[in-house]
Amino acid sequence: MNFTDLQLIDPIAKALKEEGYTQPTPIQEKSIPHILQGRDLLGTAQTGTGKTAAFAIPILQNLATKSQKNNNIKVLILTPTRELAIQIDESFKSYGRHLRLRNLVVFGGVKQGSQETALKRGVDILVATPGRLLDFISQGIISLKDLEVFVLDEADRMLDMGFVHDVKRIIKLLPPKRQTLFFSATFPEEINKLANSMLTNPVKIEV
Ligand code: AMP
Repeated sequence: MNFTDLQLIDPIAKALKEEGYTQPTPIQEKSIPHILQGRDLLGTAQTGTGKTAAFAIPILQNLATKSQKNNNIKVLILTPTRELAIQIDESFKSYGRHLRLRNLVVFGGVKQGSQETALKRGVDILVATPGRLLDFISQGIISLKDLEVFVLDEADRMLDMGFVHDVKRIIKLLPPKRQTLFFSATFPEEINKLANSMLTNPVKIEV
């Protein structure tokens, strides 16, 4: 299979070509069609498998073709570390370079100022670590009321790092009608429970 079989819109196909991607990786081949259809997804995948593009490409396409345009956040990607957050944001920017969408990454350990300014200008796709996201929500700077897609990345690491309480608080703030994509490398009992509480009839993909 190559990317043309996935029926991607021209601006995305062009960006992938410029990146030098010719063939989708197995997780991309299996995930992209389902995510494009709006299905929830439970993915067992490690970093290095092309997992980021597997969710970023179809999210960008759905956002570019289906979303209402206003200033509220449409897509939230929650990830445990600053490094992962930056990488994911870079991927969205790269695959979305020919689309008119606004991306932002927010994480703790740095001053809020420039992140806050960017948020107030309007963001379509936000990549965040849990603590800083909750700070912005409690200050009324971020609203998730128009959220359409929620991605929980590296759920097992999130729990290992002690973010379980924060993640549960964030999930309670999401609109119930949304698409949820859940990724974890391992599925101990606690992760299974969390996944079951968040997902509706998910497609299950393992690579
Ligand atoms: P990830 O698993 O998302 O961290 O991606 C691992 C690496 O693979 C990243 O450097 C991507 O740029 C690269 N990559 C992802 N998908 C493809 C693809 N279809 N063809 C070539 N490289 C890819």
